[in-house]
Amino acid sequence: MPTKLKKTKSAGRFGSRYGKKVRAKLVKVETNQRKKQVCPFCKKPGVKRLSKGIWKCSKCDKKFAGDTYTVGIGE
Ligand SMILES: [Zn+2]
Repeated sequence: MPTKLKKTKSAGRFGSRYGKKVRAKLVKVETNQRKKQVCPFCKKPGVKRLSKGIWKCSKCDKKFAGDTYTVGIGE
């Protein structure tokens, strides 16, 4: 068992490359991205990203604009 855990999280795959700040930013985005995105209309998780900032709910079939990496509305 390692006594000291690494703080790299999802950026661990890059090793020491690209710099600490860039990796920290990426971790922030990716941890948010992995949360279930909740639809602002029907409040159900099941929103898919079609493109940058464009989201579609599979439950109520609404298409809407949000943040680039997360739904960003109602949070
Ligand atoms: Zn919905």
